[in-house]
Amino acid sequence: MNAPVLVINCGSSSIKYALVPSAPDQPRLAGLAERLGSGGDARLKGIDSRGESFSQALGEADHTRALEAILDRLERHRPVAVGHRIVHGGERFTRAALIDDDVVAAIEQTSALAPLHNPANLEGVAATRRLFPDLPQVAVFDTAFHQTLPARAYRYALPEALYRDHAIRRYGFHGTSHAYVSRRADALSGLEGGGWLTAHLGNGCSTCAVWQGRSLDTSMGLTPLEGVAMGTRSGDVDPGLHAHLSRQLGWSLERIDEVLNRNSGLLGLSGLTNDMRELEAAESQGHPGAALTLEVFCYRIAKSLAALSCALPRLDGLVFTGGIGENSAPVRERVIALLPHFGLQLNRTVNSETVRGREGRIDAGGRQLWVIPTDEEGQIANETRQRLQEISA
Ligand code: AMP
Repeated sequence: MNAPVLVINCGSSSIKYALVPSAPDQPRLAGLAERLGSGGDARLKGIDSRGESFSQALGEADHTRALEAILDRLERHRPVAVGHRIVHGGERFTRAALIDDDVVAAIEQTSALAPLHNPANLEGVAATRRLFPDLPQVAVFDTAFHQTLPARAYRYALPEALYRDHAIRRYGFHGTSHAYVSRRADALSGLEGGGWLTAHLGNGCSTCAVWQGRSLDTSMGLTPLEGVAMGTRSGDVDPGLHAHLSRQLGWSLERIDEVLNRNSGLLGLSGLTNDMRELEAAESQGHPGAALTLEVFCYRIAKSLAALSCALPRLDGLVFTGGIGENSAPVRERVIALLPHFGLQLNRTVNSETVRGREGRIDAGGRQLWVIPTDEEGQIANETRQRLQEISA
């Protein structure tokens, strides 16, 4: 395994890792430590170097203990650098950054904008720096790709002081995924620097308009709640909803936040599940809530893509990615059917065959339609390598 980069995605109670070799065709060691710091039943699951899956009890492990267990699982392979996924880089980070004390302090300052994510990401950074004091560590930000948004796209129509004094603006997320699939679409299509609408449809969902490799607009905003409907997140609602729920139902801000983030989206609308596979099965058995949920979900994605097309000087095609975008041929078909004015023609046979992580072009002429499995770990590893090369050059 040549010059592998260890990619770490650290949540408040979990750590996802992948050891990414520099050659794209080589296998990756990857896994997930869960239930960290929750008193006794932490576990590490993953794939070892023989391609076999393992599951190991970690007892009362915290992040440091889990990283030690991950290190053991890397066997004889030693990373040359660590790339950390950091959710929010604010306006300070427009690209990946070599981690030092100043960068850690700047990420801490941004934590007010991502109170659930940045502190957990930093816990991973601190533990990894303790364990690998000699390895270069790079922070790769979810927001950085969208720092090319023009002001007309990132400013809310709010009093200027809220932006100036409190950094309230649209940032966008899933940047690593939108960057990866749009670059891949450029390469696959032969249209270097095309105009793409990308739809990352997973548990979290967002859309993006990319022109010549730069993000010009995206559906998520100050937080990852804005935009299309998601697994458990509402996406856009009337901004007056919060005041209405507070005044009429006496709901606290915490409750409103919880409902919009955890009890809404596919789960809330259907009353069944946030899992697209289960919703599709329920719809085929005639469940009316599932049918409406799928209609709302697809309509909102199409509406978002149509709105974002305003950002592009030219539209060359659409790209689908994420667990739903890569696997659900029916969702892709419905979204495309709602955009007839874009001149899209779907090849239904190829569409229905393009599932389970397969890359494929699914149009039958007209504007290009692509399914491109996202590779956030690979993109983080590449950005880590690039940053280190630039620094050493
Ligand atoms: P992600 O967050 O990218 O892992 O995506 C999670 C979402 O992908 C969940 O809603 C899953 O139900 C959905 N998903 C995964 N596999 C399939 C599939 N074969 N068909 C439809 N949806 C799928």
